[in-house]
Amino acid sequence: MVDSTTLADARRVRRQHFGGDFRLHSVIYPIDYCTSGCTYCGLSTLLAREGAHGVRGAMRPATFDWLMRRLTDAGYHVHELVFGTVADDQARLTSRIARWVESARRHDPDGYLIVNCDTLRPQDYRVLRSAGADAVWTFMEVMSPDVYRAKHRSGLKADREQRLEAPLRMREAGLAVGNALLWGLTEDWQGELDQFVAWSGQVGGFDFVATPVQQRLTLSPGSAAPDYFDVTPPLTVDPELYLTICCELRLAFPTARLVANTRLDPTFVYGQVSAVNDMCNGYVWTGSRSHPERELAQDGHVRHDGTQMDFHNPGADPEAIQRLCPQDITVRLDLRA
Ligand code: SF4
Repeated sequence: MVDSTTLADARRVRRQHFGGDFRLHSVIYPIDYCTSGCTYCGLSTLLAREGAHGVRGAMRPATFDWLMRRLTDAGYHVHELVFGTVADDQARLTSRIARWVESARRHDPDGYLIVNCDTLRPQDYRVLRSAGADAVWTFMEVMSPDVYRAKHRSGLKADREQRLEAPLRMREAGLAVGNALLWGLTEDWQGELDQFVAWSGQVGGFDFVATPVQQRLTLSPGSAAPDYFDVTPPLTVDPELYLTICCELRLAFPTARLVANTRLDPTFVYGQVSAVNDMCNGYVWTGSRSHPERELAQDGHVRHDGTQMDFHNPGADPEAIQRLCPQDITVRLDLRA
């Protein structure tokens, strides 16, 4: 049971800093393959070696153009572009990401663009800023060094030290900074939270704190993952624990945008978590092979083969999402006002 005093305090802090506004953003994976070896992610190169991938690769530019038009027509003006490690060379990674950012910026000149990507060098963050990015999110996922090492076996993401200093580089480049832990990766969620809050203080705080939750990995029929792979999360985060964690984060980060996640049931996320968090994903485009190329994925529960994309897709209709929210919460699709 969520502690009632903590919940009331978290709701009060949310009201104080964000009123009843609840920001929605679109989530797009322009490239859905990765060269990092994380033991919990459906895009991991560890799965590629086992032939257990359902990825398509890079989205065709025409598909991206079509998608951006659909989303902006639906009113979305905050977009998160998600990239794994799509090159082990950071300069190359930057130039690839910058092309997608420039394209998104052309479609939505006044929109707010968030890039979710691996660590970059200081000069690379400046390239993304020039391309039109407003913020970069680089999720730490887990704080404890031994757990981090066990979960990140290869690729850029295995470099924990670089990840720890990345927020400073982003800020220097004029970008807003986002970060997150992946809840469910280890049983000691309270210990992780304490380390995360302490670290944020050392790197100047965060503008966005996201709250992804690890779910059971969905594998293609007949495919297998290595024995050490986290097909089933070490800790199952149920709605009650999720709300508790969000309340703790709300109190620890009173002025940061606290981003909810529809890997849990959207009726719960929009209906209850929105009283604590002030932002959430709306539409999600995963780009995997099972995602239709020229349609928005269906609303409802989606399990994409060979990826970790086990989530509830709330669809692109903001009015439908508004109907799931409490009456005193107002869905908004911008971030600048
Ligand atoms: S979590 Fe990110 S870096 Fe790790 S395998 Fe998945 S996409 Fe790649």
